[in-house]
Amino acid sequence: MTDTMPRDLLELARSTKGFMPDDEGALLHRIAFERLPHGPALEVGTYCGKSAVYLGAAAQAVGSVGGVPATVFTVDHHRGSEENQAGWEHHDASVVDPEFGLMDTLGVFRKTIARAGLEEHVVAVVGASSTVAAHWRTPLSLLFIDGGHGVEPARADFRGWAHHVQRDGLLAIHDVFPDPADGGRPPYEEIYLPALASGAFTEVDVVGSLRVLQRTSGSAGEPLA
Ligand code: SAH
Ligand code: MG
Repeated sequence: MTDTMPRDLLELARSTKGFMPDDEGALLHRIAFERLPHGPALEVGTYCGKSAVYLGAAAQAVGSVGGVPATVFTVDHHRGSEENQAGWEHHDASVVDPEFGLMDTLGVFRKTIARAGLEEHVVAVVGASSTVAAHWRTPLSLLFIDGGHGVEPARADFRGWAHHVQRDGLLAIHDVFPDPADGGRPPYEEIYLPALASGAFTEVDVVGSLRVLQRTSGSAGEPLA
């Protein structure tokens, strides 16, 4: 097993609905493969499971850690972000539950992970990111933040989750656009910049809008500056 995606899983990731370009997915896969032997990874923002396939494939390649399957938790209320709602740019009417008139991507996610054969390695946590974060206690080898991209959700994800990254662990942030002409600012202003400003993280990799920072000081659970 290596740090490159098996062909069949790569095809599946590519054909899954979502927002993860191939080259950024490949980086996600590589860093997860590197970090998962040190503890579980957690993703904020599952959607239909596209990025979870890249992460889960790495967990499968790692196999088992301390007698349990290498694990990727993925958190989402599955009701969509602001930008996924009707009338917004990233809306997809096929993922609306007609009974409630609300988005529901949980079933699609489940099919994606079952098709990928990754149910042993990818664990869905269904609920609001801030609620799950408040109760979370396990140090993370890798945290991937790709949830709500408004100012409030991005800020809450940084405050709720970043301190759970273990020393030497990685914080990967999606949709980081330093130039406002390229996209929305909150992941850059509310997650990326504060992580660097805390002094606890150092940038180690970048592909497209995916930035990877490493925790170089403090330890999991310790508050960040
Ligand atoms: N990683 C996915 C894309 C995630 S899109 C991919 O590879 O395609 C962002 C997701 O974040 C949406 O599914 C939305 O429901 C979720 N989300 C937004 N705000 C959230 C919150 N406060 N709590 C939980 N999930 C949230
Ligand atoms: Mg994204």
